[in-house]
Amino acid sequence: MTTNVILLGPPGAGKGTQAKTLAERTLLTHVASGDLFRAALREGTELGMLAKSYMDRGELVPDEVVIRMILERIKAPDCELGVIFDGFPRTREQAVALGASMAAHNSKIDGVLYLSVPNDVLLRRIAGRQTCKTCGATFNIYYFPSHKPGICDACGGKLYQRSDDSMETAQHRLDVYFAQTMPLIEHYQRQAILYEIDGQREITWVNEAMLRALSQFMVTSAQPKE
Ligand code: AMP
Repeated sequence: MTTNVILLGPPGAGKGTQAKTLAERTLLTHVASGDLFRAALREGTELGMLAKSYMDRGELVPDEVVIRMILERIKAPDCELGVIFDGFPRTREQAVALGASMAAHNSKIDGVLYLSVPNDVLLRRIAGRQTCKTCGATFNIYYFPSHKPGICDACGGKLYQRSDDSMETAQHRLDVYFAQTMPLIEHYQRQAILYEIDGQREITWVNEAMLRALSQFMVTSAQPKE
């Protein structure tokens, strides 16, 4: 038995931060399409180079490329108890392909947690975001800055801004989200598996709200750890 959940929401809604905590508190595996592309880029693979050309412009990587990568990733043994999808699906075509693949494996998407955040907050969240090069911890120069500018509180590593997080690219990524990903809200609402969560509240509040929503549809084997 598995539980599969999608975190849906605009760039800057906090999906990555929340997904990491949810994965720590459950037996589900965090699968983030953006992280997979960034890892491929670091490794200098063909997939990484291809993705970079789209990511730098704030465009979506073509559906067939993303779909192939994700369906391959979720075959791995660590996904046996279920997956927290973060950043995927982002288009109707991706959602349909994921649903079909799940059905073919006698599985399904059990719930979609939709993190809603007003537009004006999103731009500052994205453009202020900083990530640690060493441990991946995230900070925000407007909302939760590191104690020493440019230095990670957790491990002392160097903080950097993702190349697609500049103000201009951030705005474009939001436009792409509204055009291509917003329609998925209705898609999952129609299947009656969408749970809306106020993503503007503080991180721990959002996390508890997500765990409560998860416990409504999660099978016992993957229930939150005490
Ligand atoms: P993220 O880390 O989720 O904000 O993704 C960073 C970038 O990776 C996006 O702006 C896209 O260029 C690409 N990307 C990530 N996930 C997808 C997806 N599901 N479909 C298409 N492109 C994606």
